[in-house]
Amino acid sequence: MTSRLIAIACCGFSACLASPVSPSRGPYLAVPPALQSTMTLLDEDAWQHPLLTEPMGAWVRRYVRRMVVDPALPPHVGALWVDATDTLHIRPDQVPPHLRVSLTASTILHETRHAEGYRHPCQRNGAFVDRALRDGGAFAVEIYYLQHVRETWQAERLQTLYIGCEAPGVF
Ligand SMILES: [Zn+2]
Repeated sequence: MTSRLIAIACCGFSACLASPVSPSRGPYLAVPPALQSTMTLLDEDAWQHPLLTEPMGAWVRRYVRRMVVDPALPPHVGALWVDATDTLHIRPDQVPPHLRVSLTASTILHETRHAEGYRHPCQRNGAFVDRALRDGGAFAVEIYYLQHVRETWQAERLQTLYIGCEAPGVF
């Protein structure tokens, strides 16, 4: 999976609240057809993610207003969260059938952590990374999910490449 970038930090939490009537199926998240299977996987998974306080699908719907499969993303950006528009952008080759649903789901969870307000505090080999798993950042959310769905190789790869600071710089 390629690196990810996020836009400026300014999440308005009150504006991101899901429907009070049906929090797990809020009307505010527009899911494009290419991501329906991914959201279904997350919605139907009863596993309690250790870093989240609610079911994964409901959590995504609480913070993400829109999802867009965006061919304009540059090759090194697999997905991108944009605070200003409450929109998650993801590159066409990062969604099923080009990628396994569980891997796309892990990317959605990563970007949703950004939507919630978490940023990458530093860099490693030129990529924006998280300091430690215990900090519970976007990579931690992603890695724990990858372990849960037995995507062990990818979980270990992310832990090697994207956990542990070498240079300062918040993004
Ligand atoms: Zn990120």
